[in-house]
Amino acid sequence: MKKHNFSAGPAILPASVFEQAAEAVRDLDGIGLSVLEISHRSAEFKAILSEAQQSVKDLLGIGDEFDVLFLTGGASSQFYMTAMNLLANNETAGYVDTGTWSAKAIKEAERFGAIKKLASSKEDNYTYVPKGFDIPSDLKYLHITSNNTVFGTQFRQLPDTKVPIIADMSSEIFSRPVDMSRYDLIYAGAQKNLGPAGVTLVVVRKGITGKVKREIPTMLNYETHIAKDSAFNTPPTYPIYVCLLTMRWIKAQGGVAAVAANNDKKAKLIYDEIDSNPLFEGTTAVEDRSLMNATFIAKNDAHTAPFLEACAAANISAIKGHRSVGGFRASIYNAMPMESVQILVDVMRDFTAKNG
Ligand SMILES: *Cc1c(COP(=O)(O)O)cnc(C)c1O
Repeated sequence: MKKHNFSAGPAILPASVFEQAAEAVRDLDGIGLSVLEISHRSAEFKAILSEAQQSVKDLLGIGDEFDVLFLTGGASSQFYMTAMNLLANNETAGYVDTGTWSAKAIKEAERFGAIKKLASSKEDNYTYVPKGFDIPSDLKYLHITSNNTVFGTQFRQLPDTKVPIIADMSSEIFSRPVDMSRYDLIYAGAQKNLGPAGVTLVVVRKGITGKVKREIPTMLNYETHIAKDSAFNTPPTYPIYVCLLTMRWIKAQGGVAAVAANNDKKAKLIYDEIDSNPLFEGTTAVEDRSLMNATFIAKNDAHTAPFLEACAAANISAIKGHRSVGGFRASIYNAMPMESVQILVDVMRDFTAKNG
């Protein structure tokens, strides 16, 4: 029986995407070949790549002012590629430290230029998103982690600045509309909300690359991949194909706005239960709660293990919280059906009826 998968990543994808992805391994659109065995230079794969790139633009509401790249190396490689390509040694970039991933991004960027940590919520175990901090207007860029997968917080509003923003959107890509005019670059590892592990989406504003003087290895240079339209070397063909299937699914739902409206409802369902159930409590500031990763704990730690057992008995998978937060984390990405969130809520109520 199919489980209710609350995994933070690699994570749930739409059921129809799993079916289409499986079928394409056997035979891609009836061409007599598996998607796994066609050349990345073939007409079939070129069509996949160009539809995938166009779909990204459609879903973000952007045009040719941006390039769309599908790279390898994970979101973690973007921690250094962004700074390596965009920040000169004598320039300063601003970073907001809102969690594990932000801290890693800062560490890597520091190798290439001056990094100003503008704000951090580390001393409160990243339970909130800092606001109202000063953002110097001469920064090269401002880097944020828009959704903090581990701690369950999210920038519900962008910081007030004219400085171009670079955002790690790994765990929220295409979950809500974004105003791309505010960004120079966004990136997302696919395995949270878009596709399988192995590909990273990078959307980069035209004209911002090639300005720093340092030597950049060919594969780490955005200009290489921009010039070759994301096929300088063999791109991760199958992960890109599955991302395309997911993007077709988002379009069929009515686009990002429709998916976002559903995400709001799913998040409200789980957070209302967390707030009203006497045995549980949320771990983050209410106004900064993530619509993608809902973190919560049992008020009495003696309930933690039995609740995890109750979840397992109800076919709920991967609800255990990250070790740095404890408790529970319900990752409710785009593909998570409302019915699965309802089952989790039912298990919480049932647990409280028996143990409250
Ligand atoms: C998972 C995650 C990463 C790391 O992604 P990799 O693809 O494993 O490198 C980075 N940032 C955020 C916000 C994440 O959720």
